[in-house]
Formats: sequence, C-alpha cells, structure tokens
Amino acid sequence: MTDIDDKLQQIKDNNLFRTPKYLSKGQEKHTNVDGRDVLLMSTNNYLGLSSDENVKQAAIKAIEKYGLGSGGSRLTSGSYDVHKKLEEKLAKFKGYEACLVFNTGYMANLGVISTIASDEGYYIFSDQLNHASIIDGCRLSKAKTIIYKHNDMQDLEEKIKENKPSKGMIVSDSVFSMEGDIANIPQIVELGKKYNLLTLVDDAHATGVIGKTGHGSCEYFSTKPDIIIGTLSKAIASEGGFACSSREIIDFLLNKARSFIYSTALTPAVICGSIESLDVIENNSEIVEKLADNIAYTCTKLKEIGFEISRETAIIPIPIGQEDIAVLYSQRLFEEGVFIPAIRYPTVAKGESILRLTLMATHDYEDIDKFIDILSRIKRELSESI
Ligand SMILES: *Cc1c(COP(=O)(O)O)cnc(C)c1O
Repeated sequence: MTDIDDKLQQIKDNNLFRTPKYLSKGQEKHTNVDGRDVLLMSTNNYLGLSSDENVKQAAIKAIEKYGLGSGGSRLTSGSYDVHKKLEEKLAKFKGYEACLVFNTGYMANLGVISTIASDEGYYIFSDQLNHASIIDGCRLSKAKTIIYKHNDMQDLEEKIKENKPSKGMIVSDSVFSMEGDIANIPQIVELGKKYNLLTLVDDAHATGVIGKTGHGSCEYFSTKPDIIIGTLSKAIASEGGFACSSREIIDFLLNKARSFIYSTALTPAVICGSIESLDVIENNSEIVEKLADNIAYTCTKLKEIGFEISRETAIIPIPIGQEDIAVLYSQRLFEEGVFIPAIRYPTVAKGESILRLTLMATHDYEDIDKFIDILSRIKRELSESI
C-alpha cells in the first residue's frame, strides 16, 4: 500500500537506522543510559546547570506558585510576569533592546526567519552548515535562499554581488552544532552593513560557552548582529528559544510569527529555571572558565592519541568517516562506560560521520583521562581488525 517498508529497509541497509537510548537519571556526567552507568560526554548541558540546586529549586517553587501547565498561548492567557522578566533579562544579557521567548530554539528560527523574509524578492544568504531549524525557516519563507560555502566570507560576498538583493538577510550559526567551529561574525556584520542586509546569528551553542563570561558571540567578538537567536535548552539547561533585537523587530515578531502565536506558552517552571540559570552564570563566571579549560585539555589529549582537533567550543567532533565504523566506535565506548553517539548522514555529510564529543564544566581531568584511555584502546583495536 505504501513504500514505507522499502524506505525503512533502505535506511537500515545504509547503516543509518536510529533508535533512542533512554536515560533513567539526570543529565549529569555520571548518569544511567539503557540500564548502564556511564560517563556522559555528549550533553548540551555544558555547564551542568540542569541539576544545579538553585535552578531546580527555582522550578519547584514556580510549580508551587503557578501549577504546571501555562494554560494558553502567549497572546491569550499564557503570558506570566515571569515571561516578561526572562525576556528583559535575556535582552540585557545579550545587550539588546528587546527579546521574545519562543517555545524552542527551533521554533524561534522558524518564526523569525519566515516572518521577516515573507516577501517575494527577499534574499536569504545562509551558511552551508547552518542548523536544520534555520534551513526549515528558509523553506517556510518566501525568500530566495542562497547557500554560501561554510564560513567562506569571500564566497558570501561574491554571492551577494551576483544577486544584487534590494532586501535580504545573512543568516549563520555562531558555533556550528556539529563542527564546533565559530563563524566569522564581525565580517558577516560588516557585509550586512555594506550591502544593507539584516544579519541574524544563532547563538544556540555559544551562550554560556564563548565570551569571557559566557555571554556568547557578541561578547566573544565585541560585535552586534541585528538579530540574535538563542536557545534555553543547552547551557541554560532549561527549555525554550529566544530572539533578541530592536524593539521594532521584536514587536513585529510578537504580532506576526506563527510559531510564537499558535502554540501554548512555556510553563512558568521552565521560565523560572531559565532565570535562575542566567543568574548562576552571571554570578559564577568560573564555571565558564572551567569549561574552557576542559576544552583545551581535551584537545591536547586527543592530539596525543592521533586526533588533530583544535576547538574553542564545547563541541569537539572526532572525525571517523564511514557510518558503520562510527557506530562501532560508539558501541564500544558505550560497553566501556562512556556515552558518545555517532552522528551520521543526514546530520552530517555521507561518509563523514563523527563522534560528537561535548564537554561539561563538571567534568574533571580524571574523567577526561579515563575517556582518552578508552578511546585510544578502541582506536588500536579497530585499526587492527579493519
Ligand atoms: C539546538 C539548536 C537549535 C534548536 O534549539 P532547541 O531549543 O533545541 O529547539 C537551533 N539552532 C541551533 C544552532 C542549535 O544547535
């Protein structure tokens, strides 16, 4: 009746079939996955705040005060005093006039891009490796989307000149979600000014990670694109997405962005958790420094066992290549008590599978040494058997 079984078989034949693994403890470095105690080295909870005592208490208190569900969309009965407080806090944290909180980072990109680029004749210039939510935002827009080579500013400028857009925007991740590298935001901002294009930067993996005190790409580069997108689900360790920009743009989005308007508001519990998380980051910049130190230490150690990787972000992709070998690595690591999933097509290109290692501020050198020992053993084992 359908060809779904054929399509499913094809996924399996290509070593691309996926199944979730289930955690029965929190998103902490020592957790339990599918019944096995493991060292977690694949969370976006970079600062370990998901189980921070103050963050948890803030959410619990909010449930006691407000109950669980928010009960309505933001423009009907679902906006609470704490939504406003979080938006003011985020605007200040990022250095912008105003902010709008969405239910997820995915919905923020979808809503912002499709709402701003809603006219025929609009152009979007989008980095080749941008996150899926940016790609889907472009697809939902009425714009013509032009893809430029990854972080290649010359290619970007050539493509702008070729197309001569009268209106448009440049869109980029700041920290790329699979590569862990950082976009050339100052140049993007400059090209935006030069060609009169809006600039939108997605700080999902930058917030809490880069910049001296973890404020993300604006702090890291001392620069300011027109719109910053972010998520509250990674280093902020809660849930939600947001856009920071001018009051005018935020008012426009609040009135027009469908992914904002037609979905029930986030519950006050996660909003209060996010507010507390931001406070923890503001008051404890040493956790941001500890994360940076772990990143440097891990890159040095990886180099010693033959993986040439240098990164300034918490995402450290270990290149493996073939899909089946990446899965084998991940399985062997899991058997040895380390949880790092293999990332395969379509998240990355075919034949360019990676182990997506991510670090936390709560990891210590002992954890990293243990992981490196195990990885190096598996590397030897696999290179002998292949
Ligand atoms: C994770 C991510 C998102 C989506 O954020 P969610 O809050 O998880 O929906 C958007 N953009 C980038 C670059 C991301 O890495």
